[in-house]
Amino acid sequence: MGSFDGAETCELVGLFLLSQLNKLNIDVGLYRDDGLAVCKKAQTPKQIEEIKQKICKIFKNNGLRVTGEANKKIVDFLDTTLDLRKELYKPYKKPNSCVTYIHKHSNHPPAIIKNLPKGINHRLSTNSKNEEIFKQASTEYNQAVERSGYNTTLQFDKGKEKTITDRTLRPEETKKRERKITWYNPPYSKNVATNVGKTFLRLINKHFPKNNKLHKFINRNTIKISYSCLPSFKQTILNHNKRLLKKQKIENSTTPTILCNCRKRNECPLDGNCLTKCIVYQATVTQPATKKIDTFVGLTDNSFKTRYNLHKSSFKLEHKKSSTKLSEFIWKLKSNNTYHKIEWQILKKQKSYTSDMKYCTLCLQEKFEILKNAPTLNHRKELFTFCVHKKRHLLSNFTALPL
Ligand SMILES: [Zn+2]
Ligand SMILES: [Zn+2]
Repeated sequence: MGSFDGAETCELVGLFLLSQLNKLNIDVGLYRDDGLAVCKKAQTPKQIEEIKQKICKIFKNNGLRVTGEANKKIVDFLDTTLDLRKELYKPYKKPNSCVTYIHKHSNHPPAIIKNLPKGINHRLSTNSKNEEIFKQASTEYNQAVERSGYNTTLQFDKGKEKTITDRTLRPEETKKRERKITWYNPPYSKNVATNVGKTFLRLINKHFPKNNKLHKFINRNTIKISYSCLPSFKQTILNHNKRLLKKQKIENSTTPTILCNCRKRNECPLDGNCLTKCIVYQATVTQPATKKIDTFVGLTDNSFKTRYNLHKSSFKLEHKKSSTKLSEFIWKLKSNNTYHKIEWQILKKQKSYTSDMKYCTLCLQEKFEILKNAPTLNHRKELFTFCVHKKRHLLSNFTALPL
């Protein structure tokens, strides 16, 4: 709970538990850490209580604890109250929670601002059995909507029954092939006067006309645009504080960070920084005789020294000759007896893939440097390689912990 991938883990564990609860012969559903079960057959309260104990036992066998109540006719589940006696359902909200929505004038994409009251209306309508219940529940939501600067009043949506059945897919529809769509998600800001979306789509039309080879793949049907939101102001401040505190912690720590462990400092390939981690680096190979200069861009998320030693062994051992474009080149020079010098430098320090960022700035930086510096020794296909750092976070890399 509260961890970054808590929700995903919850779904996995939930599915596993549901598969075990199946044998109890009850209708049970889970949403993350909330569950609801119905016993349809006329059973005595005692029998139902026993089923509840069986559920608790299944959880216990899996090393989990669960609390539950049995024999209830009215339950609050997620955001609805379900009443079996009156056969009613109505919106539910925790007693002390306050409803707040983003303000009409906040810096959000227009589509979000426009559809907010509609969304609230739809949700409240689907959660209300009839108009009377809707009216009771909507008072508070109406106030919240008004506080956010909207002057719309929520109305009971009578057509809701239709929308529900509309959404259930017919079998032949579920089989429909999914179209490959590439989304462009630029961040939205009211301060930008340019209509970024319109300009972007115009460029697609302009540069990939019908006679273009790539028109089949890049056209208005395959490329779509949708604005993204930036992290909230609160999140930005939190991140900033976290960064400052981390820096302070490093500065205050008594053990100084060692940046070089070379025996002779003047022989360090990176001028006393060879233990720096997570970097994009460049190797420059100079041939003094012809003054020819070749460059190679690489990355490492380990210390540079570890990567450097691998490079060095690939220059020495013949069977590692083709491990990189750089080593291939050095072997070529060696076979021609050409005298050469190799110099190393850090281009940029970056973070590699983490599960909360969902992308790898280290790999992106390498690709950017390859495009920017056009190194002579990198292969073009290196621009299209997948991030290797992501794989490390896969669940399959972890062995299950004993319960
Ligand atoms: Zn060193
Ligand atoms: Zn990566």
